[in-house]
Amino acid sequence: MSGTSEGPAPTADLMQLAVTESDEMLSSGTTPDTLTPPVDFRSAFSAAPLAMAVVDREGLVVSANEALGALLGAQAEVLTGKLAADLVDLASDARTWHAYREVLRGRQARLRCTRRIKHPDGQAVWVQVTVGPLPDRAEAVLLSVFDISARRELQARLRHLQMHDPVTRLPNRTLFFERLSSALEADAYAEGGTGRIGLCYLDLDGFKAVNDTLGHRVGDRLLAAVAERLNRCADEAGYARASAPLVARLGGDEFALLVEDSTGTEQLADLAESVLRALQAPFDLSGQRLSVSASIGVVERRAAGTTATGLMQAADTTLYWAKADGKDRWTLFDPERNAHRMTRQALASTLRPAIERGEFTLEYQPLVGMEDGRLRGVEALVRWNHPQFGVLTPNRFIGLAEEDGSIVPLGRWVLATACRQARRWQVEHPDEPPLFVSVNVAVRQVWDSDLVADVAETLAETGLAPHLLQLELTESAVMGSAGRPLQALQALSEMGVGIAIDDFGTGYSNLAYLSRLPVSVLKLDGSFVRGFQYDSTDSTADKAVAPNPADEVIVEAMIQLAHRLGLTVTAECVETSAQATRLRHIGCDTGQGWLYSRPVPPDRISELLGPPEVQAAVGNP
Ligand code: C2E
Ligand code: MG
Ligand code: MG
Repeated sequence: MSGTSEGPAPTADLMQLAVTESDEMLSSGTTPDTLTPPVDFRSAFSAAPLAMAVVDREGLVVSANEALGALLGAQAEVLTGKLAADLVDLASDARTWHAYREVLRGRQARLRCTRRIKHPDGQAVWVQVTVGPLPDRAEAVLLSVFDISARRELQARLRHLQMHDPVTRLPNRTLFFERLSSALEADAYAEGGTGRIGLCYLDLDGFKAVNDTLGHRVGDRLLAAVAERLNRCADEAGYARASAPLVARLGGDEFALLVEDSTGTEQLADLAESVLRALQAPFDLSGQRLSVSASIGVVERRAAGTTATGLMQAADTTLYWAKADGKDRWTLFDPERNAHRMTRQALASTLRPAIERGEFTLEYQPLVGMEDGRLRGVEALVRWNHPQFGVLTPNRFIGLAEEDGSIVPLGRWVLATACRQARRWQVEHPDEPPLFVSVNVAVRQVWDSDLVADVAETLAETGLAPHLLQLELTESAVMGSAGRPLQALQALSEMGVGIAIDDFGTGYSNLAYLSRLPVSVLKLDGSFVRGFQYDSTDSTADKAVAPNPADEVIVEAMIQLAHRLGLTVTAECVETSAQATRLRHIGCDTGQGWLYSRPVPPDRISELLGPPEVQAAVGNP
């Protein structure tokens, strides 16, 4: 085997060159009857910077040079007679040991391996050891040892950079998946372990709004501070156990805590609980007090038969449940609930005929002026009276309808029904200021149907004035709007129809961008209002309670910015009068939520439109 053909890396080649040179050096100058090099080459051998030793066929050092002595922290002469394998740790691993013996016996030409040896001063040194023949010297071999610590350290540092996230210094996605895969492989066979694996998959609630309103630097600092708290949770969880959970940042505001050899769901639930607790205290980021909550999907199962993809999918679904169930919580993976997802198929196949069979109805939820508490408009919310599954909320089927396109006819039905109803209230209550109706529009309706024509036609048919119709689109629907969607929004806005951004703060748009679109209203996602926590240490109801200022900083900044950009703001999910008071204080224009009313059938809204005293009675359930 030729030495120079082996090493791919330049450093290895260099080293190989050194080996070849010393080979030549030794072979050209030695006489066959002695094992030590002749005097002129002996001094070269002795002074050479590459650590070397001539080793006899028994594996004993015949002669070592100074460089080897220095590397091993001993005088070169002292090494003579020692077992070379002990000096550079060739016996600790069976394969290397076998190969080394084969080289000594002359049955294999060369051995090269990397070892970690301990210098007497305590430092570990990484070396590359080569054992090869000495030409013309059948009775000995040449051992050369090359210090590769610097290269290893550089490699390690590069790997660290590649595998860690610069913002939080946590392991990144790549390292996480590497660890997850090897944990799954190892755990399936490991003897001492539990053979189980657990994962907390975490996503911060409303993080985007922090970035949008306070800037990326504050956002980054918040992520780093969150990472620190997660690490602390992991350390505490790892206390008195073989290892702490691995905390990784998977991207954006997503984190994972991986528990190898988990003991059951309870352990993971405890971990998730401790994470939620750890995030409860507000963050103090150089003067800015911020609070965040998180939603966590928890999965715990046997490692055997589990794949990284399968585990991540389950975690992703579970995280989605945690979000859908109201955020700021952990949710455990539930195979039954997952199976329920399969009935999505069953739902999907009956969607279209259901529209024709008239299985859908609309409920309306009041939108109330924050200043005077008066009813201004209503949001139309669709329900499906499914013959088999009962009344289904839109979260169960709107996604499906978007996927298979049936949202287009369904959306058309919703639009027409809502406009007709709004016109009817106006006609039946001529003395009341007319209510506007707010209709949710899915992205696909903007792309796949002629929304502008549908709206124009509906308004003409029902006789509803354009300014009494508001369309709610999500951020993702208008984000990056160009071409068709933007033209549609512009045409609708020119027609006089209002455009609202629904669930604002959960997506990725920024306010400055939105203000350039024909948008007039922001509907602040419910998670913000829910974030208003009240210090209830003083429980006497009528004593003033101190609001937690953290979330309000964000909401207030957002409202001020929105106002400056000419937008009005509606808060969703207003459930308590304390929340309403705070919202009014920080300038929110309109509110929607259980405090005022749940979504109700149209005749309940008619009742609200009755004489003022009736309105007050029904308006505050
Ligand atoms: P959304 O547009 O954000 O509607 C508000 C949702 O929040 C409604 O849920 C409403 O019942 C709920 N909500 C209202 N006040 C409160 C409160 O104080 N606390 C809490 N926890 N929740 C409150 P719903 O009716 O289940 O609708 C869910 C989503 O389905 C809607 O969210 C909307 O995105 C979508 N949706 C509803 N109807 C339609 C429709 O006709 N077309 C389309 N494309 N989507 C629709
Ligand atoms: Mg809506
Ligand atoms: Mg909403």
